[in-house]
Amino acid sequence: MNHMTANATRPDSAPTERSFLPFSRPSMGPAEFAAVESVLRSGWITTGPRCKELEDAWSAEVRSLSAVSLTSATAGMHLTLLALGVGRGDEVITPSMTWVSTVNMIVLLGATPVFADVDRETLMVSRETVEPLVNERTKCIVPVHFAGAALDLAPLRALAKERGIALIEDAAHAIGTRYGDEPVGSGGTSIFSLHPIKNITTGEGGIVCSDDIELAERVRRLRFHGLGMDTFGRESWGRAPQSEVLEPGFKYNLPDINAAIGVVQLARLEDFVQRRTELAARYLERLEDVDELVPLGMPAWPQRHAWHLFIVRLVDARLSRDEFMTAFKERGIGTGIHFRAVHTHRFYREHASVPHGDLSATEWNSERMLSLPLFPDMRLEDVDRVVDAAREILA
Ligand SMILES: *Cc1c(COP(=O)(O)O)cnc(C)c1O
Repeated sequence: MNHMTANATRPDSAPTERSFLPFSRPSMGPAEFAAVESVLRSGWITTGPRCKELEDAWSAEVRSLSAVSLTSATAGMHLTLLALGVGRGDEVITPSMTWVSTVNMIVLLGATPVFADVDRETLMVSRETVEPLVNERTKCIVPVHFAGAALDLAPLRALAKERGIALIEDAAHAIGTRYGDEPVGSGGTSIFSLHPIKNITTGEGGIVCSDDIELAERVRRLRFHGLGMDTFGRESWGRAPQSEVLEPGFKYNLPDINAAIGVVQLARLEDFVQRRTELAARYLERLEDVDELVPLGMPAWPQRHAWHLFIVRLVDARLSRDEFMTAFKERGIGTGIHFRAVHTHRFYREHASVPHGDLSATEWNSERMLSLPLFPDMRLEDVDRVVDAAREILA
């Protein structure tokens, strides 16, 4: 399939000098179009065989014992926390340098988020920043594999095991990432996102991977009304007239229309990672002498970076980050912020019950960071265009 899809969309969809260069754009080709058409013609468009195919391919790819597809990573976080019994009186340790969804779910379940600071250069929490926050109320730790890099998992896994706490890896950025030789998603519980800006997309979608089969089965049940399924029910996707509610659940199942896109995209993963790596290498090379734009640091532990985002921090510049991003936009270049620290959002500023300690590295980055365009259909010349525009703006 790769020979069909690798270059198929590039000639007409690649941005030209005159067109707007977005900061992200999903790569969709003839194989994705055909896969969707085939689902539409099949007569079965909601959760069904394509979801099963995506789940099987996903667990094989990341070497996890199970994979459950859902409508989003946020839904996956909701159900995983719920299935672990997180609720009132519990604390969940997570970075404030994350997407708001995790913290929202913790709060909606009645639990308390406790923010750990991140490393200033990798934007990731470590055993050193998490351990001082652990107490008898700590139920769970939710660290983030950031921007396509891998967390230093071993020390965090050891801490979770020693203290009897659950560890859920936020792997929204990390399909294709490896920690050592191990794909992110193996050997624990992790949640991937299939939102359009992520490395692989289904339009919207998410996957919960776990080696805890019981946990995965509970997430699977909770995603569809909490219906219990016998063997027949499993085959007919929970629609067996015999299945009954075992516990109240939600409606978070992924349609086959979306899953079919994911199956094709997953087969293109290696091409995507390779392309992103080439583009990131070009950025790193061309930004070397641009003092005001500081890329993230590379983690010290062995890994394969999947280059989900190319983040720089704007330092000692003659203009503010907002002005810098506006100047980019005026030159037809899109940028983004991943992320504004959660504790600086209005609800979390005003909500007295969200305690946190020193978050100075989080805040330093939150005020200065921005994401430059990075997506597989970009060309190396587009990277040069971005860097040239940055030099012009900063001059
Ligand atoms: C995108 C993202 C999510 C949420 O993913 P959805 O599929 O949009 O719910 C969670 N965490 C991080 C770090 C993300 O970037």
